[in-house]
Amino acid sequence: MSEASDRKTQLRCLNCFERHHPDYGTTELKCGGCGMEWRLSWTSRTNVKIRGPVWSKVKAEGV
Ligand SMILES: [Zn+2]
Repeated sequence: MSEASDRKTQLRCLNCFERHHPDYGTTELKCGGCGMEWRLSWTSRTNVKIRGPVWSKVKAEGV
């Protein structure tokens, strides 16, 4: 619980709420908690949102 980590970009998986700290510019993120892959949208260097799941990966894995 350090202040430094609070300033880092933080993102929560919409499926299992696992926390992630993606690097700026990352467009896809695989959640280590549930295995879902998410498409990311950056509004600034430190502000990122999940746009939605990577459907091609979901279908390929037959989830
Ligand atoms: Zn997850």
